[in-house]
Amino acid sequence: MPKPPTVADRPQDGRGYPVPAITPFEDGQPQFARTDYARSADCAVRRLCSVCGTAMPAGPVWRVVGAGEAEAIGAARAAGRPYRNLQPTWEGPGHRACMLYASMVCPYLGRPQARRRVLDRGTARGATGAVVGFADYEYAVLESQVLFRFVDVVEFLPHDDAATTHLAALETELASRPPKERS
Ligand SMILES: [Zn+2]
Repeated sequence: MPKPPTVADRPQDGRGYPVPAITPFEDGQPQFARTDYARSADCAVRRLCSVCGTAMPAGPVWRVVGAGEAEAIGAARAAGRPYRNLQPTWEGPGHRACMLYASMVCPYLGRPQARRRVLDRGTARGATGAVVGFADYEYAVLESQVLFRFVDVVEFLPHDDAATTHLAALETELASRPPKERS
């Protein structure tokens, strides 16, 4: 599977999965289910990608959403309504390439659940999640956690099985504007 160059530079776990920038280590082992407070705050304030840890240009940012949010966004778009979710999340934004890649490989994201569903791309009914572009993000660095809020959906890519759905988009993205290497 093609990999953003900035993700290829990340440390890997024992299975070869790249470790996202916001993932804490404990006893030398990445804790994928957790989010490191300081790294997350750093990403928020310095506009760094939560996957690869390098700078994101001004403009849209991306994240991977789960089935419930994908369906809500799909329903809003199908009805011609703007999608507003004021519920903050601790999941930070990232580059388009990094989020496409993360949805395809991350064991916690983008994998169909036990039973394969049928995806209606118009409404995202049956989606297991989506890679979503937002006009921008807001954040709050609180005492014990960093919260993000995303405004204005500018791109919506629902998936059933992310690995097959997003392969072509990731290849095109990497060929046209890969995240810059850290200089
Ligand atoms: Zn990135």
